[in-house]
Parts: sequence; structure tokens; C-alpha cells
Amino acid sequence: MPLRRVAVRVSLGALAFVAAAGLAGLGARRSAATVLSGATGAHAGQADAGDVARGAAAADPAPAPAAADPLALATTVATRAGAVRRTLDARSAGTYMEELLRGRDSSLARWPERVQRPLTVWVQPARTLDGWRPAFADRARDAFAEWARSGVPLRFVFSADSARADVHLTWVDRFDEPISGKTLWARDERWWIVSADIVLALHHRDGSPLDESAVRAIALHEVGHLVGLDHTRDAANIMAPRVRVRDLSAADVATARLLYSVPPGRVR
Ligand SMILES: [Zn+2]
Repeated sequence: MPLRRVAVRVSLGALAFVAAAGLAGLGARRSAATVLSGATGAHAGQADAGDVARGAAAADPAPAPAAADPLALATTVATRAGAVRRTLDARSAGTYMEELLRGRDSSLARWPERVQRPLTVWVQPARTLDGWRPAFADRARDAFAEWARSGVPLRFVFSADSARADVHLTWVDRFDEPISGKTLWARDERWWIVSADIVLALHHRDGSPLDESAVRAIALHEVGHLVGLDHTRDAANIMAPRVRVRDLSAADVATARLLYSVPPGRVR
């Protein structure tokens, strides 16, 4: 089980982050397509279940990328953090980086560059789950492909072998919470993300089924977490806690690109 693998990693001392998303306005018997195209109304007080679990020391550090960025050559942690912060401040227009930093205690986590050595993704063929269709796996793969086109230095290849995958995407019938997806990633002590697992639901909590379009939207949101993004209050973005849009926004893309323009870690 992929999640067990992550749980073991966490128990060994790595730090894990859990995030989740629900589809907005999940009224019973209302299709997600209808709800999302409507795109108005309140969040109905349904907070997203994002949470940060903090452990002790980290295990399994990932290799650092080549030090091409001059910022990485800063001589002290404080100097480097200050330089990164100034870089972020200077380039934050059109992004929700400030929200991300506020929500993460001024810390950023991301993957090392994975273009030459793409991340291997295993998408579970959940044939035994009621309502699962192969097209759902296609829509999930679409979400990875969309993020790979966003300009972040990540590429994804899909494998039928779960044991060899960096990323596992599995399915559940539904969550007990008002969410439709959940992402768990682990990072090392240098804030490089080292593994990630995504779980997507086939049904809303009330039992109504998610359609392909909704699965793709939730997958885009969860892969956004996998990339290292967190929530923004602006519902025009895929990273709103309650997903109301169907595609990456300019701000989603700009925020991710900004994240990957600096080293991870604390920036104050
Ligand atoms: Zn989320």
C-alpha cells in the first residue's frame, strides 16, 4: 500500500504534509459540472483539511540539484533566506506566494528538478471499486501532464509497477470528510519533497458520483499540492480549498513557477 510506505517514512522521522480538497457546493444530486460552472455561492463553512504534521529529524534526504542558482551560494542560512525572500517579494505579482508563505510559516517545499529523470507515477487501476472507469485514470494522468506543461521543471512518466513509482495515485469510494481528494507528501530536512501519494474519491460524501471533469479538476488540485503549492482563497484558482474551476489559472502557474525559481526551505 502506498500510504503505508509513506507512513513508515513518517515514522522514521521524515516530515509529512497532508492536504485535501473538496469540490465546491456539493449539493446532493447536483452534478459537479453544474456546480462548478455556476461558480457562485459561499463555501458553506466547509474548511479544507490541510494540515502540517511535524516530526523530528528527517530521513532519506534527496540529492540537491546542481547549484546553478546564485542564491544557493549564499554564505549563511540567514543571508540565503533573506535573499530568497527578497526574490519572492520582487516576483510575487500575479501569484499567491504570500498566502502560501503565511500558511506554511514562511517555508517552501518542492521537488528537485526532475526533467532528465522524470518522476514515475503509478495510477491505480481500481477496477474493483464501484463506479471506477479507466477514463478516470486517463483524467488523472491528464492532470500530471497539465502541470508538466506549466513551466515547472518536473516531468512525469507513468508506470504499471507501483513498487518503482515515486508517486502513487489511488482511489477510494468516498471520504468521510467533505473532500474529494487528499495528498500526502514527505520532505527531507532540506525541504526537498521526496515522495507523494494522492487519493481521489469516486463519489462525494453524500454518495453522488464524480464525473470525469470533476475528477480531472480535483486531480489538478491535488497534483498542485504534490508540486508544493498550498491553498489560496481566490476561487478563480485550482488551488482554492473548494475547487470551483476546471483548469490551472495564470496565478496557479505563476505561483508554481516562482516556487521553482528559488531553493526550498525557510525564507525568513
Ligand atoms: Zn487542497
